[in-house]
Amino acid sequence: MLYARDEKGGRVRATTAARASCPQCRATVIAKCGEHVIHHWAHKSSEDCDAWSEGETAWHLEWKQRFPACRTEVVMGDHRADVVGVNGCVLEIQHSALSSEVIREREAFYGNMVWLWDARSFWERISVRHGRMFTWTQWRPTMGACSLPIFLDFQTVRRARGVLFRIDRLERAEWQSKDSASTWTSTRGDGEYVKTGDFVTDINWKRPEVLV
Ligand SMILES: [Zn+2]
Repeated sequence: MLYARDEKGGRVRATTAARASCPQCRATVIAKCGEHVIHHWAHKSSEDCDAWSEGETAWHLEWKQRFPACRTEVVMGDHRADVVGVNGCVLEIQHSALSSEVIREREAFYGNMVWLWDARSFWERISVRHGRMFTWTQWRPTMGACSLPIFLDFQTVRRARGVLFRIDRLERAEWQSKDSASTWTSTRGDGEYVKTGDFVTDINWKRPEVLV
């Protein structure tokens, strides 16, 4: 996590000298101040008290850093929402694949939320025509469980720096494609490129408008 709780109950960033606790379970946390990854805090035991927390990848930390501290890692019941927008819309910043069950559970828990998925590893399998219609081969069928807005981040693609792809319509009906070696599952739908800066502004000021 980017922020921990200091002795006075304030939010504190990780430095080698700082002492702090987890804002949720109050256990002592350790400052991770390496050279490569953004400085952050970690629980002493490898287990995070929030079962939904995923390992802090540089991608995840960089995203959280784009939002004001008071809106980041907000404790809600047993969970810490990555970001809570000004009107209560939760932004879930998700690097790892999730099961359909977990996706549904998370949407039901937060209610008002949008997904931001790390699409760097599968973006090559998505082809976008006319900036809107896309086909996605070897897709992640569990993502069909998402009923709330989905944004894909594929920042490593050179020509697409500074933009995200917002999925407006995703066909849940899958079809099988086949070549001599394997069978895979594809899907298709519509969406639109959005500027990352606009997306960040929208999360801070309003819930991004998406037709699903
Ligand atoms: Zn904790």
